[in-house]
Amino acid sequence: MAIKSNNFCIVLSSPSGAGKTTISKMLLKKDKKISLSISCTTRPMRKGEKNNKDYIFLSDNDFAKAIKANKFLEYAKVFGFKYGTLKKSVNYFFKKNKDVLFDIDWQGYQQLKQSNLEVVGIFILPPNKKELIKRLKTRARDTKDEMKKRMSLVQSEISHFPEYEYVVVNKDLNSCVQQIKNIVESERLKRSRLINITNFVNKFMN
Ligand code: 5GP
Repeated sequence: MAIKSNNFCIVLSSPSGAGKTTISKMLLKKDKKISLSISCTTRPMRKGEKNNKDYIFLSDNDFAKAIKANKFLEYAKVFGFKYGTLKKSVNYFFKKNKDVLFDIDWQGYQQLKQSNLEVVGIFILPPNKKELIKRLKTRARDTKDEMKKRMSLVQSEISHFPEYEYVVVNKDLNSCVQQIKNIVESERLKRSRLINITNFVNKFMN
């Protein structure tokens, strides 16, 4: 008999340049029971990005309307733009019996923790400062101004690591992804998340 588990939210947060986007993509390939929550943002689309795939790109006006209509599970201002998770996209995946992966910042994580959802927070750290600066500098997708803004915020972002249940250092990409997969697998086996475990165990008692 397969023991089913309640679905939960997996939040990955990190300072810019820790490799979070690559890690998320690899994790989704490795674990088919996880789906990625696509956020809304008012940030301009970068080269290579697609609407509804990387983000749902909204105007300031449409984002404000969605806030007013109470459509967001969480939202925050990050690097001068607004980012938010729609309630309906998370519900959609839970109905499909998936765990949902969130690539969101510490502000969004704090809001999710206050919701009635089951949330597991994982903070990803770069291996060292030198490597972080190198990664930020070689990231072709950011403009110089954007990069400067992100660099200045790295320390404040890192200061939030104690709020997370797990911390993983991205020294080696493959082992970092494996560690996160292991965390998710262990979380699925938490007794409190196992559906009908009492009935299952009771069968041994009679
Ligand atoms: P980027 O512009 O590089 O794609 O993302 C910038 C930051 O915004 C990242 O730290 C990312 O995790 C965060 N972010 C992306 N989507 C959301 C969201 O829906 N909510 C919150 N709070 N942060 C988000």
